[in-house]
Amino acid sequence: MEKRFVWFGIGLLSLCLFLSKTDSEAVVDFDPPVRGQMQLTGTFGELRGNHFHAGLDIRGPVGRPVYAIADGYVSRIVTQIAGYGQALYLDHPSGHTSVYGHLDRYTEDIAVYVKRQQYDQESFELDLELEPTRFPVNKGDLIGYIGQRGYAFGPHLHFEVRDQETQDPLNPMAFGISVPDNRRPFINELRIYELDERGNVQNARSYTTGHRGRGRYACPQDTLWVDGPSVGLAVKAYDQQDNLNNWNGIYSLQMQVEDSTLYQFAFNRYAHDDTRYLNAHLDYAEQEQNSWFHRSFRLPGNQLQFYEPERATGRISLAPGQAVPINFQVLDFAGNVATMRVMVKRRQAARQQVYAKAYTYQLPYDESSLIENGSLRAHFPEDCFYEDIYLDYDLVDEQSDEIYSPVHRLGHSSIPVHRYFDLQIHPKAIPEELRDKVLIAYCEDGRSPRSYGGEWTRDGRLRAPVRALGNYCIMLDDEKPRVEVERFAEDMRGWSEFSFLITDNYRVSGKAHDLRYRAEVDGQWILMEYDYKNDRLFHRFDNIILPGRHQFVLRVKDDRGNETVVEREFIR
Ligand SMILES: [Zn+2]
Repeated sequence: MEKRFVWFGIGLLSLCLFLSKTDSEAVVDFDPPVRGQMQLTGTFGELRGNHFHAGLDIRGPVGRPVYAIADGYVSRIVTQIAGYGQALYLDHPSGHTSVYGHLDRYTEDIAVYVKRQQYDQESFELDLELEPTRFPVNKGDLIGYIGQRGYAFGPHLHFEVRDQETQDPLNPMAFGISVPDNRRPFINELRIYELDERGNVQNARSYTTGHRGRGRYACPQDTLWVDGPSVGLAVKAYDQQDNLNNWNGIYSLQMQVEDSTLYQFAFNRYAHDDTRYLNAHLDYAEQEQNSWFHRSFRLPGNQLQFYEPERATGRISLAPGQAVPINFQVLDFAGNVATMRVMVKRRQAARQQVYAKAYTYQLPYDESSLIENGSLRAHFPEDCFYEDIYLDYDLVDEQSDEIYSPVHRLGHSSIPVHRYFDLQIHPKAIPEELRDKVLIAYCEDGRSPRSYGGEWTRDGRLRAPVRALGNYCIMLDDEKPRVEVERFAEDMRGWSEFSFLITDNYRVSGKAHDLRYRAEVDGQWILMEYDYKNDRLFHRFDNIILPGRHQFVLRVKDDRGNETVVEREFIR
């Protein structure tokens, strides 16, 4: 009897563990954050530039009401120039945080509170953490309106569900927030990589797939021939829901070799801090050409945790002459399936055995490396790369009045860089008065240079943390930002707002600052909102500037301290 009781106990315990591990997130049901039909222009885990998409994008229009998905309270309010623009964070008793981004407006009581904080802190940008008693909400309460503020192109709500404790993003569809979906995902392309013994990619090629009906896909060739002993594959796949022809992200991918699962992933959750490993999950060089693949093998430096089986590499080993059948299964969250079957076969005798690469420096992904040559110093920390890098380097002396160093060609932009590395460049002779106005410029072919800013080291090199490979040199920026009147007059009686357009000669990257500004009326700070997509700086008249004659001053400063000051009088 006692033995049976123990067994029962263990059975119950393991059932509980199973539930808590896999189903705890599905136990809670949330209301959707909008009413009426929901169209998704983005899904959870979707591949985006340098990050996985952390939530759902729900189509506008601007002004569409947004509602609390559950009881809770406003735990955080973020107002920023880029990113989510205006965002609300709600904490819920279930242990989740919901996030609502790109809002056009908050509801009145929140808006009043935010504006008071902006005047107190003299800053348009805010990041406020709030007490539970400040703004409690009930499920279904109106909290704001859809917009396109911040880094948003087209009106939509960026909506997230997070684990409150870790702030790791979770798939909102697991909480019942979904749309009708009877369409299968589709598989557009397959890519095959030959790998060396450390898992580094040696070469790759792509195949356009053909649809054979009922979600079954195939390659034009029945057999994909390879020379080496180890290969990896990648799949380009998308999904659509019933009510919108948007190319959204897939939910999961599974790769089976002879009936056993060699590699799979599903977008249920990921660690917030790991999102940049997206650049290892996809094929970065392909993505630069706007071609987005999910690799079904792990680059050696990819530290994402959502691949199964745990520690799986997804590499397929082949003996000479061996053929291996591989099955792919791609799913959307609703369970619609697309499949693909391919045969990979290793030649009996390799056509070419040696993958000779011409390179100047070899940088192992799992060690730190230093390049120093008297003219340049680059220190790469460990885990800067996802695989061993064979770096081409040379130095070109360009004769230009604007360039104050040789141009260092440090590899190519198609190689992803995970962490910032320290770059120091020796200048040519720089006149003393211009020393504060030079910067480390990143110059991609055919694009205008970007500024990484920089500061001087004690031994006279300009240094900045940078996060890309490519061409670097020292350039000069002694140009003031441009400030143009968009809407401003001496007599603004009856006007609802005034605005300026602000632009600069350099775009910035890394730790360099975007344009900073300060506006004052009669010596007092006033709120000007910055819509950086449209270079617009605007003030909406309210009861802060009273009727009468006023003195207006606007200062706009770039990363190198070049400043433009506009002074005007006006009547309100
Ligand atoms: Zn979004």
